Amino acid sequence: MSQILICGGGVGGLVTAHRLRRWLPATDQIIVFDQQSTHTFSPSLPWVMTGTRTADQVTRPLQALRERGITVVDGVISAMDPVARTVSVGNQTWQGDVLVIALGAALDPGSIPGLIEGGDNVYTLSGAEQAFEHLQTMDRGRVVVLISRTPFKCPAAPYEVAMLVDGYLKKKRRRKSVEVEVWAAEAAPMGVAGQVVSQSVVAALTQRDISYHPNEVVTEVDVSARTLNFQSGRTTPYDLLLYVPPHRVPNIVSDVGLASPDGWIAVDRHTLETRHPNVFAIGDVTGIPLAMGKPLPKAGVFAHAQGEVVARIISHRLSGENGADTFNGHGECFIEMGSGVAGFARGNFYAEPSPAVRTFRSGRHWHAAKVAFERHWWSQWW
Ligand SMILES: Cc1cc2nc3c(=O)[nH]c(=O)nc-3n(C[C@H](O)[C@H](O)[C@H](O)COP(=O)(O)OP(=O)(O)OC[C@H]3O[C@@H](n4cnc5c(N)ncnc54)[C@H](O)[C@@H]3O)c2cc1C
Repeated sequence: MSQILICGGGVGGLVTAHRLRRWLPATDQIIVFDQQSTHTFSPSLPWVMTGTRTADQVTRPLQALRERGITVVDGVISAMDPVARTVSVGNQTWQGDVLVIALGAALDPGSIPGLIEGGDNVYTLSGAEQAFEHLQTMDRGRVVVLISRTPFKCPAAPYEVAMLVDGYLKKKRRRKSVEVEVWAAEAAPMGVAGQVVSQSVVAALTQRDISYHPNEVVTEVDVSARTLNFQSGRTTPYDLLLYVPPHRVPNIVSDVGLASPDGWIAVDRHTLETRHPNVFAIGDVTGIPLAMGKPLPKAGVFAHAQGEVVARIISHRLSGENGADTFNGHGECFIEMGSGVAGFARGNFYAEPSPAVRTFRSGRHWHAAKVAFERHWWSQWW
């Protein structure tokens, strides 16, 4: 009997656990550890922000995985040993034949003075709910969408937030009295996907009269003056601040010495195995350099694909079969643009010398496809 320990029940951990349950004998133990009792489908958070989804619609209890034969341990991982392949929660420790680290990126809004007090963190469920409350009463002034630092997960999400706010305000006939701006600590939207993708996002913002301020790194939020101060010396006022917080590797990963100098876990880019045998890392917690010099973006689509690959590798290894499954860097992404319209991009991020990504003309069908994907997510795993 084998025991597989999966740290994190987010996108990557969930996919790995389900696939292993299907492919391994029932006598093998699959244990998922998570500090949260619910799984949140983050791609739906921008819809929570505009009131088209409620918290209940975008979350499910992780303990429900028990019905599928997966053990769930609800608690903060307090210790992890990649050499002994052990995981501890409180005073209990588990030892595994294989360890999968899918702990995602930790959010660190407290590292920028005034950010928590001054704005709504649209990268959390509670922040998205708070943003919706604020949007409902916003009838004049300025909404600032802030990308505080790079890297951040889902490179499209903050731009979706800005365009969904635009669509919401138009529907409420308040858009003419509310300015919408994006201030970003990056040179261009979705830059790793290439210039064509960046330009199409900037064009979509311009078309909606959303002003875009790239290369602006915020230093502090002056809550009493309601202004943002940037490294460049520029300052901008805001009435409603919707922010993407700084991301960092979870403490437990750096505590056990698994973080590489770039701050994330280094893995084999095809097998996702770390330098420790039978210890894999997938999703946002990894740092995978691309030939173009930037890392693979942090996105659920990659965590999902990597979970599938790692589960296949593990099941082959445990059964002694030869298997050649590898992660190939392919990914795709919807970009919600408000008013029931979305765009879509798809490509190979491992292409050299730079990712080969194609954009598709935006339309209502891509929005419908994202809604269908959301439905599929819940029906497939719950
Ligand atoms: C607003 C928003 C919109 C998005 N939209 C998209 C999209 O349209 N398409 C897309 O591809 N991606 C999207 N993403 C990104 C996507 O959600 C992430 O890239 C994906 O969830 C990463 O999966 P993961 O398994 O690596 O980490 P996560 O899904 O973040 O899971 C990590 C898990 O580890 C747990 N954990 C962390 N530390 C500990 C600890 N010490 N002890 C116990 N448990 C711990 C966490 O509670 C969490 O459940 C979006 C993200 C956001 C915020």
